[in-house]
Amino acid sequence: MANPFTMGVASGEPLPDGVILWTRLAVDPLHPDPARPGGMPPRAMPVRWQLAEDEAFTRIVREGTAQALPAWAHSVHVRVDGLRPGADYFYRFRSGTDLSPVGRTRTADEETATRAVRFAVANCQRYEHGYYTACRHLADERPDVVFQVGDYIYESRQAGSYVRRTDQAGAASTLHAYRNRYARYKTDPDLRAAHAAAPWVTTWDDHEVLDNYRGAGDGSAAFLRRRAAAYQAYYEHLPIRVRPEGGGLRMYRRRTWGRVADFMVLDARQHRTATTLLGAEQESWLMTRLRDTPVRWRILMQPLFFGRRFVPGPPPNLRTDSWDGHQVERDRVVAAAGPAGLVVFSGDVHNAWAGDLKADFLDPASATVGAEFVCSSISSRPPVTDSQAVLGANPHLRFFDGRRGYLSCVASPDELRVAYRGVDYVDRRGAPRVPVAEFVIPGDGVTFGNASSK
Ligand code: FE
Ligand code: CA
Repeated sequence: MANPFTMGVASGEPLPDGVILWTRLAVDPLHPDPARPGGMPPRAMPVRWQLAEDEAFTRIVREGTAQALPAWAHSVHVRVDGLRPGADYFYRFRSGTDLSPVGRTRTADEETATRAVRFAVANCQRYEHGYYTACRHLADERPDVVFQVGDYIYESRQAGSYVRRTDQAGAASTLHAYRNRYARYKTDPDLRAAHAAAPWVTTWDDHEVLDNYRGAGDGSAAFLRRRAAAYQAYYEHLPIRVRPEGGGLRMYRRRTWGRVADFMVLDARQHRTATTLLGAEQESWLMTRLRDTPVRWRILMQPLFFGRRFVPGPPPNLRTDSWDGHQVERDRVVAAAGPAGLVVFSGDVHNAWAGDLKADFLDPASATVGAEFVCSSISSRPPVTDSQAVLGANPHLRFFDGRRGYLSCVASPDELRVAYRGVDYVDRRGAPRVPVAEFVIPGDGVTFGNASSK
């Protein structure tokens, strides 16, 4: 049998004492037979794993055997605990005599820590639109943790021009088709490198299931089956802590680094109703944590543009699929963060933006209560945008850039620093990393300014 570690390795969900290690066995990642995902035999396969303090595996601290089951497409999610906080580790898998690549991971800081945390933000990687060079640059930075805020895959097939092709004729709607879509994305070596370089914490947006879906969609059994298939494939291909249950998958959670950064990861899709974006339970969880957290930086990691963005011209001028369609709920979230302020990271719109969060977005003189940093996309094409007109109509929006890229950030008690990194092209490999802009919020403030570049 060929080496089954074609999809690489990944780790995720860092806690102060543990991480999740992931791989999936697939000798033929795009195997066409739905009964044999990844071209694997339909039986359980043992997978050995090792975690060490050094890259040469001379100091192994944990090891064991996991069962890769056909019901989960031979994916493996190993829960490792008992580790030291704020520490680097290295891991690998073995199946028979075949070894996986080595991954580097890192635990979160302990509850009382005040060390700086280095994190990256990425999103929106439509395969047909180009190469994942930005992932390669992100991997080279080896951040403590990577946050992926949605559109890890696109279920639909690209109409019109493309840089490279996925294999399926139509949109993914079955478990097999979603699996093979993830498998296709993971054939990209730069994406695999980014997973091997650091632990990831992910949340989804719409395209992991269906463009602009909300909650239970049309409520039909067919949609709920499709959503359940998409959620299962998501689980099977990412290093997450929870399993799908009853057609759902609990996505919202917090990941906390000491006293410095409280990352609240939101699910903007699964719990939506006609009137709420988060749903009652998630909102109540978020409000409680925003009010009670003892941590300096209250950070929302979520897919959708959070601040007001009025687009001049013919209606619709506000995007109802986003937080502008839920203004009262947005005001409640901002208010709960209080005087310490809120920092929001988002994606979805395929261009980079940054802006102030306002107590009243319609009154530029009202208090600034936080900041939003919108990451553009790893590869997904941007819409045509008159950025000058949008900046002019929204005085709280202060920055725009139209390149593909990611965010490289450092949070410490003294400041939160956000660097926009870009690439000038994705239609071929090898684009150099461009330093686009860098902003900083002082430790005692809520408003960002330009950082002197380092
Ligand atoms: Fe997208
Ligand atoms: Ca989206």
